[in-house]
Amino acid sequence: MSRSALIKPLTQKAIHGKTRRVWLFDLDNTLHDASHAVFAQIDVSMTKAVMQALDIGFAQATALRQKYWERYGATMIGMERHHGVNAAKFLHMSHDFHAPDFVKPEKNLASLLQNTPGIKYILTNAPHDYARSVLQTLGILHCFAGICSINQMRLQGKYRPKPSQALMLQLLAQLKSEPHETILVEDTLKNLKAAKQLHLKTVHIFHEGTPFSAKHKIRPPYVDLRVKSVQELLRHPFSHY
Ligand SMILES: [Mg+2]
Repeated sequence: MSRSALIKPLTQKAIHGKTRRVWLFDLDNTLHDASHAVFAQIDVSMTKAVMQALDIGFAQATALRQKYWERYGATMIGMERHHGVNAAKFLHMSHDFHAPDFVKPEKNLASLLQNTPGIKYILTNAPHDYARSVLQTLGILHCFAGICSINQMRLQGKYRPKPSQALMLQLLAQLKSEPHETILVEDTLKNLKAAKQLHLKTVHIFHEGTPFSAKHKIRPPYVDLRVKSVQELLRHPFSHY
C-alpha cells in the first residue's frame, strides 16, 4: 500500500507549522448537525440503494441495512461481502442526493478552524464525494489537508471503518503522527473508546441525535474533553495550548 493510501489530500495550505498536533475530525453530527435533515435523506437513499441492488422490497431492505450496519459498521460492507455488490457504485447510490440542500452553512467555522493550531483531516465512515460536498457547503473544505472516507478505509483488501484500531494505527503511521499528539473529535462514543485504547486524545461532541448518546449524560473515562459543539471546542483552551 502506498504511504498516502488512506488519505485523499486536499490542500497544502491547511498545514500549520506551530505545533505537531494532528486533528482527526468526524463529519456528521461533529462538524455539522446531520440530524437536522441529512440523516433522513441518507436513510431514504440508502434503503433505495439496497432495494435496487438486490431487487427486494422496502421492509426486507430496511432489515438488511440494520443488520449490516450493526455487524460491520457500514451497510456497504455487508452488501459487498454477502451479495457481491460493487462497493464504489453502492456508496454513490446510497448518498445520491444534493447535500447542499440539506446542510446548514456554519458561520465562523472556517475562521475558528484556521485559528486553531495543528493540521486537520476528516475521518468519516461516509463516502468521499458526500464528505467533500458537505465540507464545501459548510465553507470549510480549505481548512483540511485531506479526507479519509470509507472509500479509502481498505486494509489488506478488507474495509475497516471506524472504530477499527487497525485503521487508526495505519493512519497514525501514514501521517507520521504520535498518538498523544493526535486528537479524535467525534460524536460516536465507541470510536473514541477505541482511539483512547491507542492513547490518542479524545474529544466528544455531545449530540442528542447520535444513537445511544442520551445514555451517557456524564463524561466517560476515555473522553478527555466533552463539549456541546465544535465551535465550543475550537474556542476552548484545550485547542490552543
Ligand atoms: Mg458522527
